[in-house]
Amino acid sequence: MRLIIQENQQNAGRWAAEYIVKRINEKEAAGGRFVLGLPTGSTPLTTYAHLIELYKQGKVSFKNVVTFNMDEYVGLPEEHPESYHSFMWNNFFKHVDINPANVNILNGNAPDLAKECEEYEAKIVAAGGIDLFLGGIGEDGHLAFNEPFSSLNSRTRVKSLTYDTLLVNSRFFDNDVNKVPKQAMSVGVATVLAAKEVIILAFGHKKAMALHHCIEGAYSHVYTASAIQTHQHGIVVCDEPATVELKVGTVTLSGTSWTGAGTVGYWGWDGSKGIQIGSKNNPCKSYSLTTSAFADATITEVVVNTSMASSATAKLSISVGGTSYLSNKALTTSAANYTATGAASGDLVISYTNTARAFYI
Ligand code: PGA
Repeated sequence: MRLIIQENQQNAGRWAAEYIVKRINEKEAAGGRFVLGLPTGSTPLTTYAHLIELYKQGKVSFKNVVTFNMDEYVGLPEEHPESYHSFMWNNFFKHVDINPANVNILNGNAPDLAKECEEYEAKIVAAGGIDLFLGGIGEDGHLAFNEPFSSLNSRTRVKSLTYDTLLVNSRFFDNDVNKVPKQAMSVGVATVLAAKEVIILAFGHKKAMALHHCIEGAYSHVYTASAIQTHQHGIVVCDEPATVELKVGTVTLSGTSWTGAGTVGYWGWDGSKGIQIGSKNNPCKSYSLTTSAFADATITEVVVNTSMASSATAKLSISVGGTSYLSNKALTTSAANYTATGAASGDLVISYTNTARAFYI
């Protein structure tokens, strides 16, 4: 599991949107149709805004993208402003070139809800499975409407919402908990995990406990989002306020000495410490990091991910405590990790020639 920590929700939404666009374009270039799983709620709004922006800039087309939404309220008319049908069209679909025939959202008014759920699962299979499922996380750690104690093997079905969720969602229903539909149809935890990649977004202090349980707690039906721990390609993208309950040390950039420009955030991968350097608009050329930032840990591994590198001619050097691990290694633009291993402490110096868009250590 990767944890991407960004300074704020805007940057996190941009990160997720750029990642999704990259994946859509890769599949499109290979002649395939990208199948995207999507959430509703406040969390994905910045991602949708950036996806729309990238579409307007001509960086992506959704013409061949097939979508499956996570959930829908039971019994709420489709045209109700708070139905997830309305949400998706208002906040995303109507602003891009998606083919309405490729949009799949559960019908919460279907005469036979169980059949609707069964058919939804079959449609996902017929579409070739979901390439990437984007999701949020509830304050109670739910993933889609898989409320606490939902089976981690669950598939699409009707769920009764917990009182906590009804209260949280009442903000969309005149703050009247009685107006919130009591049931929803939701993809199961196993439906999400069957996707080739899963991205979970978590923003704000109010999600901090849920994020802690999701990534540091037990794999458990108590916090169903924790199931992402078992996914081979799971990514959690959060903002800084959501990290306050995390036990695993994350690198705080303040107090860290850097040379160069363009630092935008930091991240940890499987609990490792790390830092993301550079951004699309602020590429960087050379950095050095002082020992003090790693005073409580030896550096065992430096991973530089070049998937974001924009130049095929970029060259990378890594040294730790004066020992060179990689010297003037030519980078490729394809996604690759350059790993320097060995327990070492001392100044970490990473430098590369030529501009790259961003890299991670
Ligand atoms: P939110 O909901 O994005 O509105 O916070 C997320 C969720 O409940 O999964």
